[in-house]
This record gives sequence, C-alpha cells and structure tokens, in this order.
Amino acid sequence: MLDQEKVDEFKLTIRGDVVGPADAQFDSARRVYNAMIDRRPALIARCADVGDVRQAVRFGREQNLLVAIRGGGHNGGGLGTCDDGLVVDLSKMKGVRVDPEARTVRVDGGCTWGDVDHATHAFGMATPSGIISTTGVGGLTLGGGIGHLTRTCGLTIDNLLEADMVLADGRFLTVGPDRNEDLYWAIRGGGGNFGIVTSFLFKLHPVDMVSAGPMLWPLEQATEVMQFYREFIVNAEEDLNGFFAMLTVPPAAPFPPSLHMKKMCGIVWCHAGPPETLEHAFRPLRRFRPPAFEFVGQMPHPMLQGLFDGLYPPGLQWYWKADFVTTLSDQAIAAHVDHGSRLPTMHSSMHLYPVNGAAHRVDRGATAFSYRDANWAEVIVGVDPNPAKKDSIVSWARNYWDATHPFGTGGAYVNFMMDEGLERIRASYRENYDRLVSIKAKYDPTNYFRVNQNVLPAASRAAGA
Ligand SMILES: Cc1cc2nc3c(=O)[nH]c(=O)nc-3n(C[C@H](O)[C@H](O)[C@H](O)COP(=O)(O)OP(=O)(O)OC[C@H]3O[C@@H](n4cnc5c(N)ncnc54)[C@H](O)[C@@H]3O)c2cc1C
Repeated sequence: MLDQEKVDEFKLTIRGDVVGPADAQFDSARRVYNAMIDRRPALIARCADVGDVRQAVRFGREQNLLVAIRGGGHNGGGLGTCDDGLVVDLSKMKGVRVDPEARTVRVDGGCTWGDVDHATHAFGMATPSGIISTTGVGGLTLGGGIGHLTRTCGLTIDNLLEADMVLADGRFLTVGPDRNEDLYWAIRGGGGNFGIVTSFLFKLHPVDMVSAGPMLWPLEQATEVMQFYREFIVNAEEDLNGFFAMLTVPPAAPFPPSLHMKKMCGIVWCHAGPPETLEHAFRPLRRFRPPAFEFVGQMPHPMLQGLFDGLYPPGLQWYWKADFVTTLSDQAIAAHVDHGSRLPTMHSSMHLYPVNGAAHRVDRGATAFSYRDANWAEVIVGVDPNPAKKDSIVSWARNYWDATHPFGTGGAYVNFMMDEGLERIRASYRENYDRLVSIKAKYDPTNYFRVNQNVLPAASRAAGA
C-alpha cells in the first residue's frame, strides 16, 4: 500500500500529473497500444520535464516501487507499463527542435516518430526510424531502430549523436562519443536498462520525397518471389529498401476489390535516391516477373511513415515472435510459404526487414546491437481486434516461429520480442551481453530499471536473482 501522504507530497513536486486507480483518467492513462496487455499500475507519473522525471525516479526509489518507463507505449510485451508499480510516462514531453545547419534534430523522450518526421520534413530531412508513425522514439531507438531507411542511413542508433539521461540514483548525464562513452555504447541497442532518456540528438539526412509503396504477388508465387528477393535486396543499391511480407490484402483502397482479403506476398519498397534512378535500381526486379498489383510512387517521407497507421490503430491484440536471419535457404522459404499461407486473421503478418546496407558498415562491437552480420530481422505478428481470437493468433505465431526458428541465427531483435526470458536476451546480444552486464552493474546495480528486456547487473546475477 502506498503512503497517501507521500503520494500527495510527490504530486506537489511535479509539473505534470499523477494518476492513480481512483482517478477518472486511470483507465485511459494505463492503456497501452497492445490490447493484450492489461496492467494496473499503482501510479502513473505523466512527467512534463526532466525535473519531473528526476522526482519520479526519486519517489519510486524511496517507496521501493517497481518502475516502468513509458515512451510511446507500443512495446509488444507491454514493457512500458507494470502491475502495482510506478509508470514514468514521458508522453507529455514532446519538444522537437531541428537545427538545419548542423543537420540534427533534438527530440524529447516522449515523442513519437510522427512528431519527429513532421518537424524534420519541413526542412526536407529525415532520420531513420520504423514503419508506423505512432511508435515511440524512446523504445524504438534504444533497441536499435529498423525501418524504411535502414539500408540507406543505418539503424536509428547509428544516427544517435547524444542523449540526456536520468539514472537510477537520480543523477542527470549527457552521453555521447566523448562523454560517458560506456553508457553511450550501452543505450545503442541495450534498451531502457540504464536510465530514462529525456532527450535524443539525431543526425539528419537529406530525405524529402521518396519513391515508395507495395508490390504484391499471388501466394502461389511466394517461393519464387522469396528466392528472388533473398539475392536482390542483399546486393541492391543502398538507396533501395524493401521489406518482404506475407499478408492479407485489406479490403480498402488502393487495393482493387478483386484482391480484397486475398492472402498474398509482397514487398514494400522505399527508394530514397533521386527518382530518375529508381528504374535502374529496379532493373533486376523488372526482369523477374510483374507483380499482380503495384502501388509505388513519389510521396513525402512522412506519408510513407504513416501509410500503415490506419491499418494498425491502437487497441488490437498483438502477439509477437522474432528472429534474426542471415540466409534464407530453400528449406526456410518452404516453411515461410507453408505458415504464411495460413495467416489466421487479416491483420496477422510476417515481415522480413533488411538490416544490411549501411547498417552492415558498423562493427558488431561498436554498439550494443550485435547482429550486424544478419541480413533480416524477421517478425511474425498474430494480430486481431477481437480478444476471442487470442488463442488462434498466438498458436499460429508460435507454430510459424517453431518452423522457421531453426533457420535463424539464434537471437532476435529485442524490440520484436515479447517478454521471453534471460536466455533469449543473452542470445540477442551475444558477446555484447557481458559488457552490458558490467555497464548495468556500474550505473544500475540494484536493477532499478528492470521492466525491459532485462540485463541483470553482475551482482544480482551471482545471487541468482
Ligand atoms: C505497430 C508497431 C510497429 C513497429 N514497427 C517497428 C519498426 O518498424 N521498427 C522497429 O525497430 N521497431 C518497430 N516496432 C517495435 C518497437 O520498436 C517497440 O515496440 C518499442 O519498444 C516501442 O517503443 P515505445 O517507446 O513506443 O514503447 P514503450 O512501450 O513506451 O516502451 C518500451 C520500452 O522502451 C524503453 N523506453 C521507452 N522510452 C524510453 C526512454 N525515453 N528512456 C528509457 N527507456 C525507454 C523502456 O525500457 C520500455 O520498457 C513496432 C511496434 C509496433 C507496435
């Protein structure tokens, strides 16, 4: 039970607000993107600034509360919230400041990628992020950041120049290549284990309009399309990005009614180079075979970033399984075609996101994100609005993963996993895990920040905690 007097004192110290179970806004404040997650925190501190974050960290420590950090609230496993603890909610911290001369953008910890893209596009620039604009900058960045510009500009962390952080003991630090380098290394892939990032500084690229959109092929051709894709995207020019998908065509424009609700395979392209070079980049694809449907055209970069927002609004049930993949063997492709042709619902899907090109030019020890030698981040998502479909989407995703996991690298992108335990986390960081453990022991020895893909500090690991 929380001491009400202390809670009242805490409320007086912050400029944001504090929401508890007795408040009318509690149900909306505790809700996260994945409706499968239904947690009831003891308190939600909706921080307005860095001072509030420091007060919240101090309060959580003094009251011995489990603490979750919430950025955009998108995490599949619900790692932006917790039961009975304190949620440090950053969603009110929305400042974005572009420096067009330095080609950088300064982003507050509660922004979504839509906030960032909107601000940077006004200057004809962008930094690489994910594929849905409502995803939080915080969680996506700290896990790595994979999206439409990965092959061109690298992972999001490859563009992170600096970050401001509040640590478990309440200290405030700035981390970067010349300051607190160990923490700077750790937060580029190591998630929210090391503190609360209140501000990010990213490098910007001259990405304004892009040539982008989907091409779809009949499922019967999926084997040949995957065989073509596995060679093509690894060798394509770095201006070209394209993720492969097993999908059900949504019953909406721009898709023709004849394709509505049809299970198909597809590639969603994003070409960030000059438009006149697109057909050159596509030349091998044009020689391969025509798609059944093509909707590739010039669009502003933020439009591409929001293209799937309507299909995936908050409040759906989501179940995630993931792996990193280096090669797509014929056997692996056969498993994909088998399970991909049994998508249980319209929203369920399997995506293969390329993590090569510019992302491969960074050494695997240079950041905590270790799988620089993988070619794809694979994700299988069972998704549906109806909670009654939970069992069917979960069992489909698990069966699919069981069939394809043997062809993966052993580890997965931490941002595409649910809460899957220590061994999966270790496998995802490989040789970088031990360094993460020692940095965790230095900056968060009591594992205060543990609602995340948790790296155990050395001391608690020894104690078997
Ligand atoms: C529809 C959808 C599409 C997605 N697409 C992509 C994609 O294209 N590419 C990609 O890389 N990922 C993608 N993801 C995965 C996404 O990166 C993770 O879900 C990520 O955790 C979301 O970040 P968030 O801030 O919204 O999450 P939250 O649930 O708010 O937080 C998740 C975790 O991030 C940490 N965290 C968040 N903010 C901070 C902060 N400021 N300081 C310290 N720790 C923090 C915390 O540890 C927390 O446990 C997608 C997710 C969804 C639901």
